[in-house]
Amino acid sequence: MSWIELRVAESKARDANRPIVRLDPNVMEQSGIMVGDVLEIMGRRRTAAKVWNGLPEDRGKGIIRMNSILRKNADVSLNETVKVRKVDPKPAQAVKLAPISMTIAVDQNFLQYIKQRLRDYVLVEGDVIQIYVLSQPLTFQVVQARPSNAVLIITDDTQLQIYEKPVSGVKIPPVTWEDIGDLEEAKQKIRELVELPLRHPELFKHLGIEPPKGILLFGPPGTGKTLLAKAVANEANAYFIAINGPEIMSKYYGESEAKLREIFEEAKKNAPAIIFIDEIDAIAPKREEVTGEVEKRVVAQLLTLMDGLQERGQIVVIGATNRPDAVDPALRRPGRFDREIWINPPDIRGRYEILQIHTRNMPLSPDVDLRKLAEMTHGYTGADIAALAKEAAMRALRKAIQEGLVDLNQPVIPAENLEKIKVTMQDFLDAMRE
Ligand code: ADP
Repeated sequence: MSWIELRVAESKARDANRPIVRLDPNVMEQSGIMVGDVLEIMGRRRTAAKVWNGLPEDRGKGIIRMNSILRKNADVSLNETVKVRKVDPKPAQAVKLAPISMTIAVDQNFLQYIKQRLRDYVLVEGDVIQIYVLSQPLTFQVVQARPSNAVLIITDDTQLQIYEKPVSGVKIPPVTWEDIGDLEEAKQKIRELVELPLRHPELFKHLGIEPPKGILLFGPPGTGKTLLAKAVANEANAYFIAINGPEIMSKYYGESEAKLREIFEEAKKNAPAIIFIDEIDAIAPKREEVTGEVEKRVVAQLLTLMDGLQERGQIVVIGATNRPDAVDPALRRPGRFDREIWINPPDIRGRYEILQIHTRNMPLSPDVDLRKLAEMTHGYTGADIAALAKEAAMRALRKAIQEGLVDLNQPVIPAENLEKIKVTMQDFLDAMRE
């Protein structure tokens, strides 16, 4: 079968932790690729994944939806292309996994549990895989696989070995697009304004337009402004520095300007880079609101630093505030923070999406009705929903301890006990009453 070229798109929130891809249904029909087939995926690196049914909305788009781990394994970003073709996976003789970034205890129980879970995966040596155990991601790298160079499946006969000590040098994206619910328009806009110029400065040069140096995100606290900035930095492979307005003004009192210069210096050294300034109104309030000399000098310093950015899109400053009218208008002149993105609190659809994201790693009992919860959480921000989900899970855990399913004195909780712990609708309702 010949290779098919497809454009990479993000996975849906519900698929973010599944090692699967979804293709444009037209492409599936024309090529004879079916649900359950295994695809070899060629980006800058080779990897593989199982195919699930395509989404009606993707028909005719020529896309392949891949989650952030698969994109990492193929070494591609959104909107880049990969080549795919159907393969027959081979049974793995031996597979060695090493955890990434933490040391784990491995006993026979654990090994069997992971082996069972690996049945859902197809593997290529070098792949990173993530397995969720009680909503905690365990991330491994396939450090060795036999036969090497093949796309593999785990069978009863596979010899699985799991190292306890972590491998180093593998970086797992801290925030990806799939972690952000709702905000479709904002995601799209920030990608266009930040990712595109950081990745392809030549495009802007060719068109003779200046990529933006500064962007303001307006919106209430806890609605995902920081998440957006982190996700775009991550996706553009940019260095990320976050500072906080009030902190700069108080912690570095008397040295605020020097601190700002230092931050811009650090960004330059590590370009492409994104400087994220949370609560920017604390650094650059409207001048009429400013009384002290210090504030005036700090605003002036920030403006000078912005004006001095020569890198043509290689450094982007993202400022966030929930008080757009409190920001010094001088900051919003052309060549400074001249683009803005509004972030609204989520509506019912948005809340449903965010609920899916924050519960996707949780073992939910079948009675949990996320649509109902989306309805009931009117006025909740993304941060409120994240807190709600966490609290519900904590309640489930407390119950499990009371019922003796979890004995905290044991070094490892047996896998069969873990499987019994579920978060129920009642846990969510109780958590809402907190
Ligand atoms: P902001 O910067 O707007 O104050 P953050 O981006 O720091 O808010 O969000 C705080 C936390 O709330 C995030 O870490 C995340 O857990 C949750 N959250 C907020 N908005 C969203 C969203 N749109 N989708 C998913 N989670 C969200």
